[in-house]
Amino acid sequence: MCSTKLLERASGVILGAIFGDCLGAEFDCMLGEQPLGDILEYCNDLQNAERGSVLYTDDSCMTFDLGLSLIQHGRFEAREVAKAFCETYFSSFQRFYGSNVVDVFVKLKQSNYNDVYGPASQQFGGSGSYGNGSAMRVSPVTLLHHNDVPSIVKLAGEQSRITHTHPLGINGAILQALAIEKALNTNEIESPVKFCQELLEQFKENTTVTEGISVYEEKMNRIIEILQEEKLVKPQTVNSKIGSGVTAHAAVPASIFSFLYCLDRERLPLISDYNGMLRTAFYSVSFSYDSDTVGSMATAIAGAYYGEKCIPDEWKIACEGADAALKMANDLISLNIQEQ
Ligand SMILES: [Mg+2]
Repeated sequence: MCSTKLLERASGVILGAIFGDCLGAEFDCMLGEQPLGDILEYCNDLQNAERGSVLYTDDSCMTFDLGLSLIQHGRFEAREVAKAFCETYFSSFQRFYGSNVVDVFVKLKQSNYNDVYGPASQQFGGSGSYGNGSAMRVSPVTLLHHNDVPSIVKLAGEQSRITHTHPLGINGAILQALAIEKALNTNEIESPVKFCQELLEQFKENTTVTEGISVYEEKMNRIIEILQEEKLVKPQTVNSKIGSGVTAHAAVPASIFSFLYCLDRERLPLISDYNGMLRTAFYSVSFSYDSDTVGSMATAIAGAYYGEKCIPDEWKIACEGADAALKMANDLISLNIQEQ
């Protein structure tokens, strides 16, 4: 793939993450399925919105914290990343952070960041959190180490341990990072089922955390089953068979499913005129119980495949952080190219 194309796709990853978060934030915490018509109406109104007026949430805050720290230091410095997470949280207004991660932030700050992995590892009686928080921010890891799967896996896990130490939390971050990598490296997906099978194999071969693999294997096999058996999938089906809430082992598979399901425009008659990246954003936000996070992760994967140009400019600039997202993607890819 030529470098221009790679940069367009890398930009799609970070911009997709921001756009999905901003869009999902509007529909988060609403009970049940959100009509696609309401989401379309909201998006069409974005062309009248002021620049940067649609605010992102904790997902994008932490994506920027992690990505900018990687760029500043040229590598992962756990203490600096922990500090960045905390400084953003304590200096910003409400960004809908989960209460459990806030407990970690308070303890990290109290320890003056001398025990970076301690507070998270002590949560939930020492088992750690398996929330989706370390997967939702992982996209900069893939861009920094694009084309180097062992490094992607290692860093996805390390950054997770600052806040989420449970094997399901760590593996969720690893699987999401690998899904973005596979989408970046694929020019045309001829079979969504094959893409899912290959991603699962790559995850099983490369993850360094063996506990919890079977949970993800089961979820990925359910995705394959649904894709093979059902043409039009109701949101209730996704929620009952895969889940879409705040746990990593629900939200990450739901995001992968959203991307793969939306490849076929005929599965979504109401939004079939839109491109695949937008179909993924609309769909992932419509059924999820954690719509900003699933929206962010699904659209990041879609961005890696379709590229940032698939989001209309007026919608892009309405989102807070759009320009910063493009700059961060460019800086991460530049670092990646220098490393090779
Ligand atoms: Mg959020």
